[in-house]
Amino acid sequence: MDILHCPFTYKTGRKKIKDLNMIDSSAFQGKKAAYYTLGCKLNFSETSTFAKMLEQMGVTPAKQGEQADICLINTCSVTEVADHKCRQAIHRMARSNPGAFIIVTGCYAQLKAETVASIDGVDLVLGSDEKANLIQYLSQAWEERDNTTAEINESTIKSKAKDLTPDSDRDAIKAKAFESPGKGEISEISAKGDIVENSGKGEVSKQGQFFAKKTKNIRSFAPSCSRGNRTRYFLKVQDGCDYFCTYCTIPFARGFSRSPSIASLVEQARQAAAEGGKEIVLTGVNIGDFGKNTGETFLDLVKALDQVEEIARYRISSLEPDLLSDELIAYCAQSRAFMPHFHIPLQSGSDEVLRLMHRRYDTALFAHKIHLIKKYMPDAFIGVDVMTGTRGETPELFEETFQFLKNLDVSQLHVFPYSERPGTAALKIPYKVNDKDKKERCHRLLTLSDEKTKAFYSSFIGQTRTVLFEKAPKGKAMHGFTDNYIRVELPPAIADPALDNELTTVTLGNFNAKGDALRVEN
Ligand code: SF4
Repeated sequence: MDILHCPFTYKTGRKKIKDLNMIDSSAFQGKKAAYYTLGCKLNFSETSTFAKMLEQMGVTPAKQGEQADICLINTCSVTEVADHKCRQAIHRMARSNPGAFIIVTGCYAQLKAETVASIDGVDLVLGSDEKANLIQYLSQAWEERDNTTAEINESTIKSKAKDLTPDSDRDAIKAKAFESPGKGEISEISAKGDIVENSGKGEVSKQGQFFAKKTKNIRSFAPSCSRGNRTRYFLKVQDGCDYFCTYCTIPFARGFSRSPSIASLVEQARQAAAEGGKEIVLTGVNIGDFGKNTGETFLDLVKALDQVEEIARYRISSLEPDLLSDELIAYCAQSRAFMPHFHIPLQSGSDEVLRLMHRRYDTALFAHKIHLIKKYMPDAFIGVDVMTGTRGETPELFEETFQFLKNLDVSQLHVFPYSERPGTAALKIPYKVNDKDKKERCHRLLTLSDEKTKAFYSSFIGQTRTVLFEKAPKGKAMHGFTDNYIRVELPPAIADPALDNELTTVTLGNFNAKGDALRVEN
């Protein structure tokens, strides 16, 4: 289902937004938009959908160096650093596109809506429940801003006739905006860790308008299936999370777990195939929880998508180990199009740390899943997320993690240093890891990851596998991935634009110069 074809009237806070069909697209015609995305694949996929929505209203993407009329920043809040980068991106966009209408959405926007709305230049902040109605919010807020500007201009002209004190239009607009009431309910995590709601007192929107519901009220699912600039499509099958791991703020930012129907996702997969898509990556926050609100299951979804014969390949972006059922592993092993490629978050190889994190499995269950994947699919690539330096991770417990991973038959580690997040339960754990130790632990894990990936790649040298090649600039090497996620390089001399988005059988040669891909053997 395309959200633009889903007419409904939607209310948030005291704001009633227009039906999409009632919106006059003429105000959008010929406008240019610039986008900036931070964070995960899901965010990138959603940004592409926002761009598609605006394109349907007549807005085209601004070219490099071209001034944009609309700037959209899709934010992340996974760490303190991510928050900082979001603020920097907003300032940068506002500076380089003076007068543009600036919209901010994503996790940071949901968690800190009011703060983001007060950043100079921001016009509109949309939380997780509101972003599906981007066009309606944008249309209204833009109209209101234009009306305010017109009012200010008129009164400035009048007052200038009497009083010659210079006052820029922008300052006048800001002053006017100070008078207008803020909109929407705000949920933020207080320093104590409780979810607090903006009572309405002091609801002053200093700059932009903000709309962000309380976490428990986030219900809408913003569908997204997009290619962006990449060959692969990213199909969002689920949003939100009910797990509340002690270190994580995602459930606060994205709300509870929810997903659309299998029928609607199959339809989107068919649509992607009709546009020429050959490979789809299933994305979400906690994908294995698919169907909790609909009574369907993730395995049912996998089986249904496997029937869409025009799609040659599917990958599952990430699955919690406790939700990666033995049946699902067995099904993938004999499926038509699900690739031998898994990405599983472990986070820690110490049962004590897993308990502190409130993860829902232990190392024995994790090892069992890896063993089963390798039993059914010996060639499978397995990527594992691991977080180090978390509260409670003593040197001994880190050593347990390191040894557990060393002995595990996996292909790559995605290593994340722990970052303290205000409001998370992890802050109650007294033992803290200092930055130096955190860095050292990351370094050891990254070295281990390198060794594992090299060993995995090396074991396929000389084999014949199918690669989906991606577009490359003229004269440059082309890259693509095998079914089991080995990065492959086609040197410039034999790169051929006709191979773009084509499944091609190649023989794998040695490592390329950078050591991050295997070259195609001539
Ligand atoms: S499963 Fe845990 S880490 Fe993953 S999004 Fe949910 S709460 Fe965060």
